[in-house]
Amino acid sequence: MNSEKMNISIIVAQAENNVIGKSNQLIWHLPADLKHFKKLTTGNTIIMGRKTYDSIGRPLPNRRNVIISRNKDLKIEGCDLVNSLEEALELTRNDEKVFIIGGAQIYNQAMNIADTLFITEVKQVFEGDAFFPDIASDKWIEIAREDHKADEKNRLDYSFVTYKRRN
Ligand code: NDP
Repeated sequence: MNSEKMNISIIVAQAENNVIGKSNQLIWHLPADLKHFKKLTTGNTIIMGRKTYDSIGRPLPNRRNVIISRNKDLKIEGCDLVNSLEEALELTRNDEKVFIIGGAQIYNQAMNIADTLFITEVKQVFEGDAFFPDIASDKWIEIAREDHKADEKNRLDYSFVTYKRRN
C-alpha cells in the first residue's frame, strides 16, 4: 500500500507520563479538548481500536467511523469493521483526511505510518493502564503549540501541540 500520498493523522490527549486511559476510560474531563477533537475530526474519517469504540459506546456523528478488530463476525451499525490497521488504511485511502483516534494498541501500530500528530498535553501525572508511545525527536518536529491555563471549565493546564514527521 502506498501510504505516502495519504494524509494520516494521530490525535490523542496524553498526561505528562504518557498515560491516555485507565480501565478503558478517559481519566480527565477537559471540555476544551473534546471541542478540539470534534473540530478536527468532524466531516472526516476516524479509525479506532475495538476497545476505544467500546469505551465511546456509539459511532461518533458526522464522521466515517472505522473500527479495527480481529473478530471477523463483529458488526456495528453505522461503522465500517476491518481486521487490521492496513485494511483500515486501504479502505479509507481515498478519504481526504484520516484520523487515528486510539487507543494504545492502535497508536503503537500507527506511529510509523502517520505523518501528523495532534497531541493534547495534559499537564499532570496520572495513574493509568494505557500509554501513548514516546515521540522521538529524530522522527518528529514540533510545528505548532498553543498553551492554555486551567480555568473554571477546564481544571488542568493543557497544550495543543502539532508534530510533523521529519523528511
Ligand atoms: P484499542 O482501542 O487500541 O483497541 C484494541 C483492540 O483493537 C484489540 O483488542 C483488537 O480488538 C483490536 N486490534 C488491535 N490491533 C489489531 C490488529 N493488528 N488487528 C486486528 N485488530 C486489532 O485498546 P487499548 O486498550 O490499547 O486502548 C484503550 C484505552 O485508550 C482506553 O483507556 C481509552 O480510554 C484510551 N484512549 C485514550 C485516548 C486519549 O486521547 N486519551 C484516545 C483513545 C483511547 P478485538 O479484541 O476486538 O480483536
